[in-house]
Amino acid sequence: MQKHFQKYSKNCTMQIMPEPFDKHPHQPSYHEQHSCNSFITVMFQSESFKIAANDQYNKLHKSISKFLPTPEVSAITRMVQTGKWWLIILFVITLFNSCREGKNEILTPEERNWLASQDNITFVHDKSFAPVDFIGNEGVQKGITSDIQKLIEERINYQFISVNKDSWSEMINSVKYRENDIIANIQNTEERQQFLKFTSPYISIPNVIIVNKNAEDELTLSDLSDKKVAIVEDYATINFSKTINPNIQIVEVKDNIKGLQMIAFNQVDALIVDIAIASYYIETLGISNLKIAGNINYDWNLCIATNKDAEMLHSILQKGLDAISQDEIKAIYSKWIHLEITPFYKTKEFWFTILSLILISVIIIITILLWNKTLKQKVKQKTRELIKAKEKAEESDKLKTEFIRNMSHEIRTPMNGIVGFTQFLSNNNLNNEEKEEYISIIQNSGNQLLRIINDILEISKLATNQVTATEQEICLNKLLHELLSVFEITAKRNKLPLLLKKKLTDTESTIYTDETKLNKILSNLLENALKYTPKGFVELGYYVKWDAKPLQLIIYVKDTGIGVSRDNQSSIFSSFYQENKELSKNLGGLGLGLSIAQENAKLLGGKISIRSKKGKGSTFSITLPYKPANTSIKKRVQNKPIEISAKKKTNIYNVLIIEDEDMNYLYLKILLKDKIKLNCNILQARNGREAIEVCKKHNNISIAFMDLKMPIMSGFEATKRIRKIRPELSIIAQTAYITKEDKERAFSAGCDAFISKPINVETLTEILNKYLN
Ligand code: ADP
Repeated sequence: MQKHFQKYSKNCTMQIMPEPFDKHPHQPSYHEQHSCNSFITVMFQSESFKIAANDQYNKLHKSISKFLPTPEVSAITRMVQTGKWWLIILFVITLFNSCREGKNEILTPEERNWLASQDNITFVHDKSFAPVDFIGNEGVQKGITSDIQKLIEERINYQFISVNKDSWSEMINSVKYRENDIIANIQNTEERQQFLKFTSPYISIPNVIIVNKNAEDELTLSDLSDKKVAIVEDYATINFSKTINPNIQIVEVKDNIKGLQMIAFNQVDALIVDIAIASYYIETLGISNLKIAGNINYDWNLCIATNKDAEMLHSILQKGLDAISQDEIKAIYSKWIHLEITPFYKTKEFWFTILSLILISVIIIITILLWNKTLKQKVKQKTRELIKAKEKAEESDKLKTEFIRNMSHEIRTPMNGIVGFTQFLSNNNLNNEEKEEYISIIQNSGNQLLRIINDILEISKLATNQVTATEQEICLNKLLHELLSVFEITAKRNKLPLLLKKKLTDTESTIYTDETKLNKILSNLLENALKYTPKGFVELGYYVKWDAKPLQLIIYVKDTGIGVSRDNQSSIFSSFYQENKELSKNLGGLGLGLSIAQENAKLLGGKISIRSKKGKGSTFSITLPYKPANTSIKKRVQNKPIEISAKKKTNIYNVLIIEDEDMNYLYLKILLKDKIKLNCNILQARNGREAIEVCKKHNNISIAFMDLKMPIMSGFEATKRIRKIRPELSIIAQTAYITKEDKERAFSAGCDAFISKPINVETLTEILNKYLN
């Protein structure tokens, strides 16, 4: 029976269990048999006949049951019993074939009958709607629609007649007006539901905005206000776009090719089309200047539609569509839609984001590093400051200890003198000479003690800001001369030349400052210079820094002494600091002089600085603001070097220099002839008497420079006498230093003016301009 069955039905299997005729010891149970892979199992149990179908074939089982009512089964049982096998086999084969046919039938008999009654059912197609629906190069209809159509035809076992139309509108209308029966790949819209009936959608394709490559990258429908946007006429996307953005200017085009061309030639700003068609045409037409700018969030859901009234056809189509599996749909989709999705790592945005992230990270790292560096530097600086502060505190501690030791020494030394020699004085055996000597020692010690006490008081007053400066008009030249005469005594004792270098006239050197304080500063510096200079010279001088703003007056004390090492140059201005304790102890000093001088210089609006080389000497400079008292000097300050007036340059003058020192004579002569370039004849007299003789001899002398201190006859006497014979002659006293009394004496003798030695070229020019007739 099985053999016969297989002969007639190729793909199906049938198993016959001939119990009791075919009993076998290893016979599988009924259930085992039932769950085997066969479609049908025919069994004979207890002389009765049974047909079982596999679980998966429920329908088949039902059909079998339908065709085998109980009386027939009894008949078959009888046939088996009577041995009429051939009848049974024939029956089962007929039954099975009928069941097989039943398995593929998805339509009701009514539908089947309806289909059979139709002459032809037309399926309307597009000619050029690739890849969805189009006629290929071989003239065959191709695309998604064709493939779907074929599958439906197969499932419903019916062949439609394909008909082509030129445009989408024509296609819709032909179904609307029942010229044709079926249209596929159509979006289900409310409007269309008025005249069409839609199956469920079978494929969804996103609708996108296509723009020219130069246009913006990311667009939505809202960005297309007042833009010309092409859409194929009668497309559902027209209504959708208008609803989302009523300001879009829709340009209806016949088909998508036209739309793509319009956009390629900039006739419209954008085209709304489904992504499948867009990518197909961009690729096949080679339009490379287009790009997808965005999704409109309205997918094109492909449905099949019939005329609204074609209920039966619609139901058949829906069943046909339902019978197509998802895998088959997927296969169709991927056959026709090759959406090349650019991998994320190939997109501009990806690289832009990556580069931005790298850049931001680099910036953050650099910022952190810089911040770190700054913090490190700050920590270093703070550490340095703390170390310095610690050192300073230690130094200050050390200084205080030193100070007490110094004080003890400084006070004890004069006190020893005073106490000791006062005791000696009480001895009656002393002679007058010894007594005088002891008294002098006691006086000196007392003075020394007083100085120490004064210094200590002054530094404590300065430290507590109890001292203020009082400016008055002073002549710097005069102050320096006075200082020079005071310190000349010590200088001579130490066999050190004490030089003075002035750069301004008396008028120019008349400045506003606190004379007492300046005197104190300079005294201190000179005292130190003479103290710490075993050989060489000490020079006191000053100059004005004309290029500084404000102008600066630099007064300096230069020596060729022991010098100060670079490391100690700033410390020596601290109270009680002494570079060489032993030396200072021997030479005397508390280590307060420079700190007092520095504090006083600050009160004058200036400071003291040092330039020194160990063993080579030092220069201490006081920098003060230059405040000339004379307003005319302020004019000179505005950069006009004093020159001899033009008229005096052309005349020839006879100049008499009365000077016993040849070097001084030569210096003045060079100044007049070479520096000032005065057109003159120079006459020399070596003393007052010679001067009178020359004046008597030369009555055309224009000006005489008279030294006041000369052998044979002094300048005072000579002037007095010359005045008698030459009352109109300009006589200028020239002297290294003149006291108030000397000055009065000179004026009363007949001098017109004074010029200090060393003679300054500007002062000399000023005098010539004024007194040369
Ligand atoms: P002192 O009473 O010790 O001279 P100062 O305050 O006047 O105190 O000077 C401080 C230290 O500066 C001196 O002990 C000395 O080491 C150094 N000093 C000052 N002037 C000079 C100088 N002209 N030449 C070399 N060293 C000097």
